[in-house]
This record gives sequence, C-alpha cells and structure tokens, in this order.
Amino acid sequence: MPDTSVKTVILWFRKDLRLSDHAALATAAAEGFRILPLYIREPQEAGTGPLGAAQAWWLHHSLAALQTSLEGLGSRLTLRSGHAETVLAALIAETGAAAVFWNRRYDPPGIAVDKGLKAKLIEDGIEVRTFAGQILHEPSKLKTGAGGHFRVYTPFWKALDGSGEPPEPIPAPKRLSAPDHWPKGEALDSWSLLPTRPNWAKGFEAEWQPGEEGAQTRLADFVESGLKGYRTRRDFPGEAHVSMLSPHLALGEISPATLWHATRGLSDDYSSEDYIHFRKEVVWRDFSYHLLFHFPDLATKNWNDKFDAFPWRDAPDLLEKWQRGQTGYPMVDAGMRQLWQTGWMHNRVRMIVASFLIKDLLIDWREGERWFRDTLVDADPASNAASWQWVAGSGADAAPFFRIFNPTSQGEKFDPEGEYVRRFVPELKDMPDKFIHKPSEAPVTVLRDAGVSLGKTYPKPIVDHGKARDAAMAAFQGLRAE
Ligand SMILES: Cc1cc2nc3c(=O)[nH]c(=O)nc-3n(C[C@H](O)[C@H](O)[C@H](O)COP(=O)(O)OP(=O)(O)OC[C@H]3O[C@@H](n4cnc5c(N)ncnc54)[C@H](O)[C@@H]3O)c2cc1C
Repeated sequence: MPDTSVKTVILWFRKDLRLSDHAALATAAAEGFRILPLYIREPQEAGTGPLGAAQAWWLHHSLAALQTSLEGLGSRLTLRSGHAETVLAALIAETGAAAVFWNRRYDPPGIAVDKGLKAKLIEDGIEVRTFAGQILHEPSKLKTGAGGHFRVYTPFWKALDGSGEPPEPIPAPKRLSAPDHWPKGEALDSWSLLPTRPNWAKGFEAEWQPGEEGAQTRLADFVESGLKGYRTRRDFPGEAHVSMLSPHLALGEISPATLWHATRGLSDDYSSEDYIHFRKEVVWRDFSYHLLFHFPDLATKNWNDKFDAFPWRDAPDLLEKWQRGQTGYPMVDAGMRQLWQTGWMHNRVRMIVASFLIKDLLIDWREGERWFRDTLVDADPASNAASWQWVAGSGADAAPFFRIFNPTSQGEKFDPEGEYVRRFVPELKDMPDKFIHKPSEAPVTVLRDAGVSLGKTYPKPIVDHGKARDAAMAAFQGLRAE
C-alpha cells in the first residue's frame, strides 16, 4: 500500500527537459516526495511563447525522450494542454498534490505567467518552490558597479566570470516515487507537433538526436574533438569546430553549467584559449537573457530608438528569395538552405545572411527574426532577438551599422575551398574554388565546364553588393542627420 502521508509534488517541466542537473527534480527526489512529472502545452501567447514549426518538431522528440527516461526511473510524464493555472488546479484537485516545483524561466511571457500563478497557488495553500538552472546566472542579481544592469558584453562577462564557478551539475535521481495514482494525460501524437504534408523535417532526422542522451553525446564528442582549435576554427562553417548544442540548450535538455564544467580539468592537450572562448560564447546566451529580462520588447522594438525612423523597404519578393536561398550569393544561399534542410545554421553564416537581409536588401531585421524563430530548431527568445539587433546595429553593444559584410569575401575567407557551399548549393559543386563564391564573375567557359547556367540553374545576384552597400550607408547617414 502506498504511504499516503508522503506528499505529492507536481514537477512542472518547461524549458528543462532533462533529468541531470535539474534542481527542482533533484530536490523533490532527495526529500523523498512522490513526484508527478508534468508538461503543459500552454497557449502560444503565454508561457513558453510562440513555438516555431522547427522547434515543434524538436519538442515532440524531446518529450518522447523525456518520457522514456522517466519510465526508466519508475515514473512517467503526464501531458496536458491549456493555461497553466487551469491545468494545475485540475491536477491538484485530481491527485491531492500539495506542492508544485519548477525551474525558473526568463522569457517575459513566461515570467508573467509564473508570477501570477505562484501567488495564486500560495493563496490556495499549495507550496511552490522554484529553482535556477536555465542560465548560468540570475539576470536580476548580476549588477554593474553602479547597481544597474549591463548593456555591454565584456563587463558582463567579467562580472559573471568573477562571481565564481557555477555550481557543479547535480546527478540525475536514480529512482522517483510515484504518486498515489497516475492521472490521465494526453497522447503526444495528438498534439500534432510533427509536420506531415509535406514532411519537410526529413533532413532533421539525419542531423539530430533530440533529448538528453543526444545532448550528452554531442557534448562528449565536441570536447573530444571539436573543442581543440575552437577559438580560431569556430568561424569556418565547413569544419566541425562548434558544438551544435544550441537546440539542446534551447529546450533545456542540458544545462549551461554542464557545458561549463565539461571544460574544466582538461589535459594539457587543450589550450585554455579554446575552452575559455567556448565559455565566453555560452555566456553570450546569458547576456542575451540579461538584455531580454531588462528590455522585454527585445524581439519587437529597437533597443536604440533612433532606428525607429529607418527607411526599411517593403520587398516581399526579395524577402522570399532570401528565405529560399535564391539570392545569387552562394554563402547566403548555402546558409539559408542549411537552415531549411537541417533547422540550424552556423554562427558565422547567421551573421552573413542577417547582414545581407538588413543591409543589402534593406529589409527590417524583425522579418529575419520571425523567419529564424519559425525555422530554427534552436529558436531562442533571447539569443535570436539580441543577435538580430546586434547585426542591425540597433541593439545594446551591437556591431556598428556601417559594418556591412561582403558576402563574397566572407565566403572566400571562411569557406576558402567552398566545402560548405558545395554541400548546400549542389548546383555549384563543380565550380573551381576561385569562382565558387562569385559565379557571376566567372568566364562563360568556366561556367559551362561546371554545368552552371546563370539565371537558369543558379540565380544571378539579386542585388549588386557595392550599390546596395552605398544605399545602406546613405539610409544610415539620413538617420544620423535626424
Ligand atoms: C542573426 C542571429 C540569430 C541567432 N539566433 C539564435 C537563436 O535563436 N538561438 C540560439 O541559441 N542562438 C542564436 N544565435 C547565436 C548563435 O549563432 C548560436 O547560438 C550558435 O550558432 C549555436 O551553435 P553552437 O551550439 O554550435 O555554438 P557554439 O559555438 O558551440 O557555442 C556554444 C553555445 O554558446 C551559445 N552561443 C554561442 N554563440 C552565441 C551568440 N552569439 N549569442 C548567444 N548565444 C551564443 C549557444 O547557446 C551555443 O550553443 C543567433 C545568431 C545570429 C547572428
């Protein structure tokens, strides 16, 4: 007979779909409570925020993986849809649960839901305990010397690094006590998170293993081989020197503290330049959350309101060519096709395609933010918004607007043999290295030998980069003159 004197805790999983380094779960297990693991599909405008189509695919597989892991501990995951307050009230009534534990989230809609909910539950006599873990440092606690929040990355990094190591990751519990009875849940398939007609996510399956196990494997592989040389080679998209952990971090299948600690105590084969640089990149994620926390409209409003007067162009045809990877600039097209085929894009190429959209096409950065949010498996409300504003020059500590990437020379520098372009733009695969990034400048004989017919098999450039650059600078000067 189950001991009904032991209290049942609802363990509400959100952007922390893991068992290791999960403070809420570890505490509930260590204190011997009966645990009812729950995931709520909240309305799109609340809680976890709008879910893009690519991340919905990921979420399906991640929940399935979490379900399997929980079963391994003698537990199970209950799935419910609706407003968190309604779902929790119903579950508490059905199961007699006396407490709700969760790890905190830091996106503005999520914070708003959690605040109201916590007050309501406490009022109803339910214990609520919340824990850290989604980011390295609480955004409300890290302060400048003057007591304000940070706007510039380097002092933020120094403050975070100087505040001591994040706590050691907590091991996953070995077993979880079950509640008195299991409540009914919804079937994952009924949520229709996967695309069907057509199944555009086929390429995702070859690339990714969503879930905690996939995240741990990727981290181990990265530390073993990719991390050496990270500082200098992380900019080369044809090489395997980045971790590709971002989608796992986005849904919390692994904690940032686990990444940090995986780069401690390494042998002398590793250069500290590499692992410190890696930690610094992980801290960019924290910095983005810091900005979002203090500027909740980061995805919709220019941080620097001078940009409100920017003369953006309404050009749906050009936007579509950019989205489809049909701009005639191989590096841009390779990036946009990598995004479409795999749900992810290398960081260097994200900067190139974003600069192209904003500065060559003069299209509002918010169009790019929206497209990325829908197509990235790592779509993150903080990093996506902060990064788009960074490229646009409108953000806090942003790249200056006049830093306009030349997509051709960026390609020549970071993909010198065109390995990356050949992978994602196969119609150019037989172009010689010299012209792989500028087929429109290749002599006709070279094009013919490579089987390329400009305007037919591969597009001519949709804008002239030199002229587009001048137009962008003129628009920016106009802004400064105001
Ligand atoms: C226009 C644009 C949009 C972006 N949108 C997103 C997004 O929606 N989600 C997202 O996670 N990242 C975003 N980034 C940041 C960055 O491109 C990705 O985090 C990175 O490419 C992920 O690959 P990785 O895991 O191999 O990174 P690694 O180089 O292995 O870095 C490790 C981790 O550090 C963090 N990180 C690295 N670079 C950055 C950065 N510049 N900003 C914030 N965090 C960083 C990520 O969590 C990453 O997983 C965007 C960048 C740009 C320029």
